[in-house]
Amino acid sequence: MAVLRFKALELAQSRPSIPVTPPSNKVSDYYGMNVFGVDAMRSTLSSDVFKKVTNAIEQGDKIDEDVADAVAAAMKSWALSKGATHYTHWFQPLTGATAEKHDAFFDLMPNGKALEKFKGTALVQQEPDASSFPSGGIRNTFEARGYTAWDPSSPAFVLESPSGCTLCIPTIFVSYTGEALDYKAPLLKALSLVDKAATAVCDYFDKSVTKVIATLGAEQEYFLVDRALYAARPDLVMTGRTVFGHSPAKGQQLEDHYFGSIPQRVLTFMLDFETEALKLGIPIRTRHNEVAPSQFECAPTFEEVNLAVDHNLLLMDLMEKVAERHNFKVLFHEKPFASINGSGKHNNWSLGTNTGKNLLSPSSKPKENLQFLTFFINIIKAVHDNADLLRASIASAGNEHRLGANEAPPAIMSVFIGSQLTSVLDELEKNATIKIDKGDNMYMKLGIDKIPPILLDNTDRNRTSPFAFTGNKFEFRAVGGAANSSSSMIVLNTIVANQLFQFRKEVDVLIDKGEKKEVAIVNVLRRYIKDSKNILFEGNGYSEEWVQEAAKRGLSNMKSTPEALGVYVSKKSVELFEKHGIFSHRELDARYEIMLENYIKKIQIESRVMGDLVLNHVIPTAIKYQSVLVKNLEGLRGVGIEAKHTKNTIDAIKKISEYVDTLLASVEDMTETRKKANNTENIQKRATIYGNEVKGYFDRIRYAVDKLELLVDDEDWPLVKYRELLMVR
Ligand code: ADP
Ligand code: MG
Repeated sequence: MAVLRFKALELAQSRPSIPVTPPSNKVSDYYGMNVFGVDAMRSTLSSDVFKKVTNAIEQGDKIDEDVADAVAAAMKSWALSKGATHYTHWFQPLTGATAEKHDAFFDLMPNGKALEKFKGTALVQQEPDASSFPSGGIRNTFEARGYTAWDPSSPAFVLESPSGCTLCIPTIFVSYTGEALDYKAPLLKALSLVDKAATAVCDYFDKSVTKVIATLGAEQEYFLVDRALYAARPDLVMTGRTVFGHSPAKGQQLEDHYFGSIPQRVLTFMLDFETEALKLGIPIRTRHNEVAPSQFECAPTFEEVNLAVDHNLLLMDLMEKVAERHNFKVLFHEKPFASINGSGKHNNWSLGTNTGKNLLSPSSKPKENLQFLTFFINIIKAVHDNADLLRASIASAGNEHRLGANEAPPAIMSVFIGSQLTSVLDELEKNATIKIDKGDNMYMKLGIDKIPPILLDNTDRNRTSPFAFTGNKFEFRAVGGAANSSSSMIVLNTIVANQLFQFRKEVDVLIDKGEKKEVAIVNVLRRYIKDSKNILFEGNGYSEEWVQEAAKRGLSNMKSTPEALGVYVSKKSVELFEKHGIFSHRELDARYEIMLENYIKKIQIESRVMGDLVLNHVIPTAIKYQSVLVKNLEGLRGVGIEAKHTKNTIDAIKKISEYVDTLLASVEDMTETRKKANNTENIQKRATIYGNEVKGYFDRIRYAVDKLELLVDDEDWPLVKYRELLMVR
């Protein structure tokens, strides 16, 4: 009998739900209590220092040493009062997770006594011995010098844990020579770029706008699996996904899980991590069941992008920690189970002004409408012109199972805008050149006097679009569940900024020639609509017809991750990023290499796990069961049972042999292919061999294993089955 599986099942079925009591019934009583945010700063800093820090946060002013010392002192007292014993610079290396290196606050004095100390220099900069983080060759490992530097725009926080509390200071991570080794440094640059570009365009419409803030609300999808069941699946433990498993009789076809009532044990888990999140100022607001069984989603209220990214990473971290208390394991992997929906991290994104206006909010006022259309159309143009780069920004080994695989949305970038806006754009495009006479209602003549204000409540939803306009924001849905949203946000904000600069330039040329401002704007927009129409798609993005239609339109459909990542180092991308100072050529090369390396390692691990499971779990089990059948056959023959009654048994015995042979041969061939790949010096070629050839064995192996799962006695099958992983709570 498959001892581990049945023990795990017994455990999973007897779990009590762990009661959770939030600090208060009112969230406002504890929201942000562990954050050194504006309130904490105002109450602990002198007004002079407070003002300087605020300016640094809002305008990016430099912080001098005195101010840093004063902030450090206040931060230390505040953190000690919260029970913190250690501090850490909290950063986002290119491994995808967050990293910490804890230092104790106390220091030894010359008299041998201990004293809690934390100076401005320790706040502003740290030099973790972080030589093992990937740097794509930028940093000589023997030198091991990477620096973390304080990001005052994301507030420090105290992370509570049973083993003590730690003050965490969000930082960027750069090499000795100033190249970014993380996600945050380029993100901050891209955000400041889009601010500049969008503010310059706002200038046409509203001189009071002096700053534009990109906003992000990241909906997070995830699966929950019982901890014991998880532990009994080596593939889940090692790769985050199941490499084998026959589809359960009941999957998501009834859609009865979606938005259904949340199981009690899950609900207390949610309440628990939400409480922890709220204490840290993460504005988590919604929770519900997702489409697949055991799949859920949570979403915060949107925030400034940099903060939203930090909060999403912190949230994922909290969810994993809190899940342990409830004997769950959280799966963020993009495709933990075959034939069942995967998990994304929908990036809801918009641009807001310092005057409090959402630039993607349609309005009933004609003048504001033109501003809305300006941003709306420029964004579509940016996506059209840079679709491949956007595709690259979401490329990963995990997301490859979700995008472009046989049962998932395709890897084609398209934009959904809904029928009403489609007709608005059509009309705008078709109007011949407009002449505006004195006394004309200019907006009426331009045909933009009445974008219905009902738009907001009336937007059609298209869940199959990778990039959809949803009334007052765009939703980039193709982002992977496990991803750091920075990747997509760096690209999106850079391409939009680049497009807005271009727009400003083109309109200015027309104005200089004597064109009326509004007419110049409309004429440029009209051309953009024509140029980028190709990217607009309103139909079913998951259908085969779309794949063909997109090919006809000349849109790319890059299924392979190495191919998509290659876009980062194309001439066009390098020029774009260098022009705006987001990435240097060297940084792009380094990133490309790191991402390929990561891709290779993930597939290598999956391939090894498959090999191990096949050889050590599946085949021995199959052969054992086959022996039972053989004995049974001998017995039947011994008592003189007719041949027609033993045929089924013989068939089963043969089938098992066939599958076992296929498995042995495939695993061996796959191992040989891995060797070939590992001996390939060129990393690009290596990644391609892994992606095309090594991974090419996966389906074949899986097919045979899943068939054996159906043949072999349930009592003996060693791997926890899909119906058990997905249904037990
Ligand atoms: P729905 O998906 O049904 O539209 P919501 O309106 O709650 O659900 O929005 C989903 C996510 O979009 C939330 O995280 C929300 O905060 C975020 N969002 C709403 N407005 C904006 C905005 N202007 N910028 C960025 N994100 C936004
Ligand atoms: Mg959504």
